[in-house]
Amino acid sequence: MKVHYALARSYLAYVFKRTKAPLPCLFNIDPSSACNLRCVFCPQSDPPGTMTFGLMKYELFERVVAEIERSTICAGLALFLTGEPIMNKDLPRMIAMAEEPRVITRIVLTAAAPCA
Ligand code: SF4
Repeated sequence: MKVHYALARSYLAYVFKRTKAPLPCLFNIDPSSACNLRCVFCPQSDPPGTMTFGLMKYELFERVVAEIERSTICAGLALFLTGEPIMNKDLPRMIAMAEEPRVITRIVLTAAAPCA
């Protein structure tokens, strides 16, 4: 309900030209571009040297969430993109921190099981 209210408010403000076009409501943040699996359909299984792998530092995550909070009225965070998010040991801290801002209405996480 909170999401629908925020989206409706954003849409009406845009239609009545009180704001610029709203920012996206869903942000992908990649806590880890590394993975310990190599599913065949995933870029993780591309030949060595074609991807760089790393873990996002908590301080950078904090800055990104603060920027989102300043820039939009409602946002969902998808905490995955190219790797396995649970490889980042700061993930529980990141989720706990991202739950605090009023604008973050939904946090989505994915963790894959190995393909057979
Ligand atoms: S578990 Fe996910 S990130 Fe890892 S190789 Fe498979 S699809 Fe890619």
